[in-house]
This record gives sequence, C-alpha cells and structure tokens, in this order.
Amino acid sequence: MIKITDLEKYYRTEEVETIALNKLSMNVNTGEFVAIMGPSGCGKSTLLNILGMLDDPDGGSYVFNDVEVAHFNERKRADLRKHNIGFVFQSFNLIDELTVFENVELPLIYTGVPSSERVKRVEEVLDKMQIMHRRNHYPQQLSGGQQQRVAIARAVVNKPKLILADEPTGNLDSSNGNEVMELLTDLNEQGTTIIMVTHSEHDARYSHRIIRLLDGQTVVENIMI
Ligand code: ADP
Ligand code: ADP
Repeated sequence: MIKITDLEKYYRTEEVETIALNKLSMNVNTGEFVAIMGPSGCGKSTLLNILGMLDDPDGGSYVFNDVEVAHFNERKRADLRKHNIGFVFQSFNLIDELTVFENVELPLIYTGVPSSERVKRVEEVLDKMQIMHRRNHYPQQLSGGQQQRVAIARAVVNKPKLILADEPTGNLDSSNGNEVMELLTDLNEQGTTIIMVTHSEHDARYSHRIIRLLDGQTVVENIMI
C-alpha cells in the first residue's frame, strides 16, 4: 500500500534549517498494523503528516496504492485523503460545537454522501463503537474514552483503507486506552491498514511490527513475534 523511498523534509526558519526527515525509507503492506516509535523530535509527526497527505515532502518518493503522490498539489492530496485515510489524534480533535452525530457525519458531507445514507452510516458506526446512546451529546459532555470512540467512529465512517493514529491513547487511562487499542485491532482484523505513532511499548504490542525512527531515519523495521 505504501512505499516510501529517501523521503526528505526540512523546516527552515530565518536562522536555522532542521532536517526532520533524512532520506527515510519504509514500506507498509495492505492489512498491516504498524507502530512507529522513536524519541521526541525524531520526525514521527512529520512522517505521519506526509503519510496522511496533510503536508508534502521536499524530496524522495511516496507511492500510495501504486500512485506517486509526493508532488501532488493540495487539491489532489485532499481528494485522495478524504476518500482513503482516517485520522485519530491524541487530543481527539472533535468539534465542540457539534454533537456526536454531527461530528461523525462530517466526513460523509465532505465526500457528498446523500442525507438518508449519511444517517444510516453514522448510526451503524456509532452502534459499532458503542456510543449510540450519546449521539446528541456534545464532546465536552463525554469522558475521554467516549470522545476517542467518537473520534474513531469519525475516522472510519467513510470506510478508509488506511487509519493513521497519533498517540491514540496518550490522553486516556489504561482501561480506556486498552479499549481503544482493542477497537483498532478489530478494525485491522476487518481489513483496515493501521499506522500508529506511539511512545507506549504496551500499545505497540497490539501491532504486527514496530518501525523505529532516529534523527529522521528508519533504524529498524523489525517483525514482531
Ligand atoms: P508529538 O508526537 O506530538 O510530536 P512528542 O513526541 O514531542 O509529541 O512528545 C511530547 C513529549 O511528551 C516528549 O517529551 C515525549 O517524550 C513525551 N511523551 C509523550 N508520551 C509519552 C509517554 N507515553 N511516555 C513517556 N513520555 C511521553
Ligand atoms: P516527533 O513527532 O518525533 O517528536 P517531529 O516530526 O515533530 O518529531 O519533529 C522533527 C524535527 O523537526 C524536530 O527537530 C522538530 O523540532 C522539527 N520541527 C517539527 N515541526 C517544525 C516546524 N513547524 N518548524 C520548525 N521545526 C519543526
């Protein structure tokens, strides 16, 4: 699904240039569940932003489902992104002014799904995430674990092939964290490819494989037993 070769990303300010990704290479197969780990500042967020087509690289190649996307403009990236990729963040990133139902409905509005179909799809996914009873609540009225379940519902409602998760349990206690990891595992077993950035060795054990980064490069792509 993903083939990245010699990826480069620089951040330039007036004084300094930071090399965030230094000819990084990695592959992810369809159906895999991969954890990305490494110390703070090693380039994990930068890599996730590029994988998610939120940002573009300064050099190298990013082939997504056989298409070279490294030089796609923002419009083409957005189009691929909204049809193929779901995002789960550490801080949930729900919209406070919208209800649970409306938050989850949003990606379907962006992709032009008709209203009656939207209701069906949102209800289906809220049911699956066991959060249906909170459909008319606002994010601030929910616990962290519930908010993350809503965020996962929003990430999967468009049936994306790939889910990118950035520290998905970072703001949760261990019981809610494990629940979120179980949900991600279920989605993976149903065929969704998952790439997750994590600091937690515990969470990484839910994955098939850990890719370790250091100073903007891949240091190990080890297969887990
Ligand atoms: P981001 O992934 O958003 O870029 P960072 O990697 O910069 O976040 O992490 C922010 C800080 O929090 C770092 O100092 C990192 O080591 C620390 N941190 C985050 N999660 C954990 C964790 N589970 N255990 C230990 N340190 C953590
Ligand atoms: P991680 O997620 O592993 O903590 P990042 O991808 O956030 O790492 O950062 C990689 C490097 O790029 C770090 O040295 C960081 O300070 C730098 N960096 C990240 N974002 C920016 C930015 N917007 N401007 C300047 N430097 C940045």
